[in-house]
Amino acid sequence: MPAYEELESEVIERGLCTYCGACVAACPLFHLKWIDGKPIRPETKAACEDCEVCYRACYRTAFDKEAIEEEIFGRHRNKDEDIGIYRRAVAAKVSDERIHEKAQDGGVVTAILLYLLEEKEIDGATLTGRTADWMPTPLVAKSSEEIISAAGTKYGASPNLLKLRTAVIDDVLDNICIVGLPCHVKAVRHLQHTNFDLAPAIKFVIGLFCHGNFEYERMIEGITERGVKKSEVEKISVSKSVFQVHTRDTELSIPLKETGGWLSDYCQTCDDYSAELADISVGSKGSEEGWSSVILRTEKGEEVFSKLETKGYLKTKELDNLEALKRDSIIKRQKSV
Ligand SMILES: Cc1cc2nc3c(=O)[nH]c(=O)nc-3n(C[C@H](O)[C@H](O)[C@H](O)COP(=O)(O)OP(=O)(O)OC[C@H]3O[C@@H](n4cnc5c(N)ncnc54)[C@H](O)[C@@H]3O)c2cc1C
Repeated sequence: MPAYEELESEVIERGLCTYCGACVAACPLFHLKWIDGKPIRPETKAACEDCEVCYRACYRTAFDKEAIEEEIFGRHRNKDEDIGIYRRAVAAKVSDERIHEKAQDGGVVTAILLYLLEEKEIDGATLTGRTADWMPTPLVAKSSEEIISAAGTKYGASPNLLKLRTAVIDDVLDNICIVGLPCHVKAVRHLQHTNFDLAPAIKFVIGLFCHGNFEYERMIEGITERGVKKSEVEKISVSKSVFQVHTRDTELSIPLKETGGWLSDYCQTCDDYSAELADISVGSKGSEEGWSSVILRTEKGEEVFSKLETKGYLKTKELDNLEALKRDSIIKRQKSV
């Protein structure tokens, strides 16, 4: 029976762990803990001998993509569907300038979350905040203030699924939205597919595009050695093959090709650029600055988005460059090992 030992040897030690936190959230007796940014079992416990929950909770141990696509879309992705199965792709931007100012791109993720909360379609969301040093930190947002405070991209792994347990057990939430990278989305879909006990509370999944995530320590070292203190950073973005660090007074631009060494090892095995299994996927690729590219995949995702448009919460227009989005998706699929 595969248990923690196998999770350690087959996933963690082989560099396949995406640090999503699902295994720790799944551990029924809290023997598995999140220590120094990774899942660790400090002591071998008798109860672990006949337990395989942490192993089964990890999508890296078994991921039945075809069955999951069948469940979400009723069919499999065709080979020529480069950005996955979808109903509509559009450019969008939040109408409220106060939200736009705080957001990474078009503020679409934050706008959707605020709408879902306002309409009581969700009672909370697992999101990513950050420390003053730009370390990503997972959180449960239950108010519009908390949702807005989590706006913006933080590069680095964030164990958002750790907070699934907090949301369901401690905060007693019934209707949760998960926001995450393609790896988080896969982890969530795996938990739903395998009927994991916390999964019924997950009602909506928003995925972010991702060419690859940066390893926090390497990224901070790269920024610091170029003369910017991490405490001064106000925003980090990637645009047109340039990694940009914005402070109050300066802007540091680093060609993306110089950041190759910062990429997290687990990203080498990821073939999903546009979070193909989300209800709605959002990124910047394909749209002009200040706008988001939005891929509406499920019926539920399309319905929610249409309501935001009707209420005037979002401005929308045709996507500028769908081909660029497809190109990046193909590149990531081809590069994955
Ligand atoms: C590591 C990373 C790599 C990305 N790479 C690309 C890319 O290659 N191409 C592209 O087009 N877009 C990429 N994006 C997405 C892009 O940066 C924006 O998140 C997206 O365009 C949504 O913008 P927005 O203004 O709608 O989001 P906002 O309204 O600002 O909301 C952003 C949401 O992202 C969540 N979030 C922030 N950091 C993380 C994180 N580390 N893990 C999980 N969730 C997080 C927050 O909880 C927040 O709810 C990446 C994002 C991340 C986090």
